[in-house]
Amino acid sequence: MSKVQYRLNTKSLAVERVKRSVWDKVKAILRYAIAGMLFSVIVLFIGFTFFESPKERMLRREIDQFRVQYDLLNDRINVLASVLDDIQERDDHIYRVIFEADPIPRPVRDAAFGGVDRYAHLAGYQNSKLISETMQRVDQLASQLYIQSKSYDEVFDMAVNKADMLASIPAIIPISRGTDRLISGYGMRMHPIYKTMRMHTGVDFTAPTGTPIYATGNGVVIRAERNNYGYGRMVVIDHGYGYTSLYAHMHEINVRRGQRVNRGEVIGKVGNTGTSTAPHLHYEIHRNERSVNPVHYFYNDLTPEEFEIIIERASRVNQSLS
Ligand SMILES: [Zn+2]
Repeated sequence: MSKVQYRLNTKSLAVERVKRSVWDKVKAILRYAIAGMLFSVIVLFIGFTFFESPKERMLRREIDQFRVQYDLLNDRINVLASVLDDIQERDDHIYRVIFEADPIPRPVRDAAFGGVDRYAHLAGYQNSKLISETMQRVDQLASQLYIQSKSYDEVFDMAVNKADMLASIPAIIPISRGTDRLISGYGMRMHPIYKTMRMHTGVDFTAPTGTPIYATGNGVVIRAERNNYGYGRMVVIDHGYGYTSLYAHMHEINVRRGQRVNRGEVIGKVGNTGTSTAPHLHYEIHRNERSVNPVHYFYNDLTPEEFEIIIERASRVNQSLS
């Protein structure tokens, strides 16, 4: 640019030195600068579009690596989920069954998250779906584990209390020589007084007035009533663990409300009070406020053979005394 320029003066035929103004110089500089910039922009555009920088290449490889790791992570989450599934199955169908606890409902176990999208902050990127799904599965596993560990706490408590539970749940026949004395089983039958088909919610044992009646499990007397209708004089014992037992048509009551009783303790005598046609004991067991067949709870003082005999007998006898 600092090159000196000359031109021929056609009039004087002399060669003269060309004088350039400052503005000319500025324009020349600008031209160069603009051309240079344009060229750079084009080169950079082509470069960025068609070639990646070493840094970009590194980042891309890193992202690919992340994606592979996420896939591996999801595989491992699948394995964990299936192990947890197995633990839940065993919990519901073995451990909780042993202690007669209800299984945990599936929706509670699945711990589904509804409503608000708690993974919204992860949205808007190329791999958002992969990341938010993975997060969701991890969160779900975490809460399922929490529910499972709670359940094991319960099972543990039940195991610790098992001796007490076994002593409390009704498990004997409430009068002696009960196998011979069982005269009416549990289920639908003709009512001896009303002469209609009715549900018999307990079992009947015939026995002479004054025969001792035993508490069938440890518990607390919650009712000791002296009526002359319906069940007549009756006692109800709360055994805990969802169980109560009921003894009706008694001649005499030897316990009072609030009293603690142990299995085998005499609570009263067989009688003929209330709607009853002859001296007998009407005996019921309730579990979670619903009557169950007491025959299935006579296992404690019977040999397996005797137990089978009484179950068979209970399904056959139907000599109702109410
Ligand atoms: Zn009855």
